[in-house]
Amino acid sequence: MDIQNVISRLIKKYKTNDPFEIADMLNISIFYEELGTINGYYNKPLRMKQIHINAALSENMKKFTCAHELGHALLHPDVSTPFLRSQTLLSVNKMEIEANTFAVKLLIPDDIIRENRDLTTQQLSRLLGYEQALIELRVKSYIQA
Ligand SMILES: [Zn+2]
Repeated sequence: MDIQNVISRLIKKYKTNDPFEIADMLNISIFYEELGTINGYYNKPLRMKQIHINAALSENMKKFTCAHELGHALLHPDVSTPFLRSQTLLSVNKMEIEANTFAVKLLIPDDIIRENRDLTTQQLSRLLGYEQALIELRVKSYIQA
């Protein structure tokens, strides 16, 4: 599945790149829970899509986690994959990489990368409020696209 294609269609249809709003319009319920070392997870009990987010995360990480789980809901709808904090960015699992790529591409539009192409990933990380490893993943997927 072409991740960029999925994102372009979502933004065109729902006129937002906000993962909370998109989940809402797709009838995916969001729950904030005490999840310990897990950032969040997606599941589908009784065919009802649900995103669970660790209530202790910062606002930016809640948004990123929502986007990541939304990626699972759209790209891997029948798989339940806990999003472990320790594995967030170093994961070599194909589905995790796809969910992270979906999340950074949804949250950080191409225009932002293009307009700030002179900045280092560290500077972009500070500007946008996402971890540097996520910015690196985003820049990598920009170059590949
Ligand atoms: Zn995941």
